Amino acid sequence: MSAVVVVGAQWGDEGKGKVVDLYAPYADLVVRYAGGANAGHTLVVGGEKLILHLIPSGILHERTRCIVGQGTVIDPGVLLREIEALHARGVPTEERLLVSQRAHVVLPHHKSIDELREKKSNEAIGTTKRGIGPCYEDKVARRGLRMGDLLDGTRLRDKLEANLECWRPVAADLGGTLPTAEDIAAHYSGLGEALREVISDAGAVVRASIRDGEKILLEGAQGTMLDIDNGTYPYVTSSSAVAGGACAGAGIGPTHIGRAIGIAKAYTTRVGGGPFPTELDDETGQQLRDAGAEYGSTTGRPRRCGWLDLVALRHAVTVNGLDEIAITKLDVLTALPALEVCVAYELDGRRLSHPPYERLDAVRPIYETLEGWDEELSGCRSRDDLPTAAQAYLARIEREVGCRVGVVSVGPDREDTADLCDPFGLSAPSTR
Ligand code: GDP
Repeated sequence: MSAVVVVGAQWGDEGKGKVVDLYAPYADLVVRYAGGANAGHTLVVGGEKLILHLIPSGILHERTRCIVGQGTVIDPGVLLREIEALHARGVPTEERLLVSQRAHVVLPHHKSIDELREKKSNEAIGTTKRGIGPCYEDKVARRGLRMGDLLDGTRLRDKLEANLECWRPVAADLGGTLPTAEDIAAHYSGLGEALREVISDAGAVVRASIRDGEKILLEGAQGTMLDIDNGTYPYVTSSSAVAGGACAGAGIGPTHIGRAIGIAKAYTTRVGGGPFPTELDDETGQQLRDAGAEYGSTTGRPRRCGWLDLVALRHAVTVNGLDEIAITKLDVLTALPALEVCVAYELDGRRLSHPPYERLDAVRPIYETLEGWDEELSGCRSRDDLPTAAQAYLARIEREVGCRVGVVSVGPDREDTADLCDPFGLSAPSTR
């Protein structure tokens, strides 16, 4: 099996960073395939925290090479700072990190437009204001700048002139102004020079790696419910976050992907606007937020918290074709007297087992109550070590969504993990 996709199975922040970091030693190459610096993957190693926004979470394993693929959008300043932060920690990136020349560049005016829109709009999406949406807009409007453009000063300036022409009326309408092409070009060609060694034909490298029989982990960003096509549109991100997006975002064909693993928290969180059927606007919600440290790693915003939504997870299992789910943050549920899980929605008197394409804000979650547990879980290294009620909770997830649970994460640190196994190896067949 050449490639395994790791995809968020909820609304993002599921703990993909931790799981990719655990799987990375089994892989030769880790490729990030979507999103931009709006993602924040948090790794905790030996109690020390590292947040990566763009660079794949495999970078801490020196034997593993990493690629930021063509499906991502890159803020070159953020990328450089991330590289410098890794060097400062003694993590080498030379000859281990490449960035696709085809990935689109997040420009300063993408960020200003994003911010101005969020300020002005009555129905703000709740973006991270990192310019991701406007950058993807440029990409599909075929007027974007790509990382390769940063390496040619004249081309960069010409493309910037044309690009800025399109945004000036938008900025004026929002009450803002834009920098000049000269100013941006001067700054960005400097960034391009600093990144010259890493900007390359990354898709060709991934394909060569497949040809050579290497093992590739395809790392998603955000989550299925934020996917542009399969999520809660329009409260979604601008890219293909689902497993299918990994092919286009890494530059490979679907026949090379052998397995899809979804990451899901033992409960649900969402950042930003949009419907969230199982949201808890009460003490229990606050308890989950505190116990799970549910504050955004990119923005510091408190995350909205709620019970596990098995309807959303069922959707993720089907649209991603998941073979396995890794459950994270099971420890956060410890000490809750009883646990609710949403097994279906009710809409206009009808019971739904999959999310409707709209009016998600009008559904009523149908809950079933499961037993809680009081035991501390962080020392559990296999499912058998877990309290009976926690084992029953996992079994219930498997039964409801029709997919087996593999890895179970019981704390933020690498060690706090049960049933870790080789994602490329054979495991029990899916119950799907
Ligand atoms: P990602 O973007 O999907 O990688 O998720 P984030 O990094 O934004 O958020 C996940 C957060 O949960 C990070 O702070 C992790 O350190 C933390 N985390 C991951 N797994 C666990 C776990 O099993 N238990 C607890 N308590 N925290 C975890």
